[in-house]
Amino acid sequence: MGHIRIISSKKRIALVAHDNKKKDLIEWAYYNRTVLSQHELFATGTTGKLIEEKLGQPVKKLLSGPLGGDQQMGAMVAEERLDMMVFFWDPMEAQPHDSDVKALLRLAVAWNILMACNRTTADFILTSFLMQEDYPVVVPDYSGYLTRKVVE
Ligand code: PGA
Repeated sequence: MGHIRIISSKKRIALVAHDNKKKDLIEWAYYNRTVLSQHELFATGTTGKLIEEKLGQPVKKLLSGPLGGDQQMGAMVAEERLDMMVFFWDPMEAQPHDSDVKALLRLAVAWNILMACNRTTADFILTSFLMQEDYPVVVPDYSGYLTRKVVE
């Protein structure tokens, strides 16, 4: 079944938006600035800079997405250092780092973290009463993958 990790009421939230979606994410974040101010924010480089400027709230910035920021964020997910991700990816345009985007989305699912990829889902998550509570996340057990025999 895996183990339980308690995510506290102060959540570690990662924000990412592709260029055509940055305006939407910034609008969403500004609209929700009061709620977001109760949490710890992380973001890929450019997204983080824009959010920090608009909200006046510190954002821990990783590298820019195409330069490795998505991969850094993926590592944080796998190391249980993030609780939630709002990732407004662009469904209408291929990205130079599509493989990294896919990897990040995969890890968020693999590690069962909260994830919103559009504004509607982000609104529903942010207004959930669970945002104010400690919540026991089931972290899946992948130990079987570590012990499998790969050579005879
Ligand atoms: P950026 O990266 O915030 O540095 O633009 C986002 C992305 O494309 O993953």
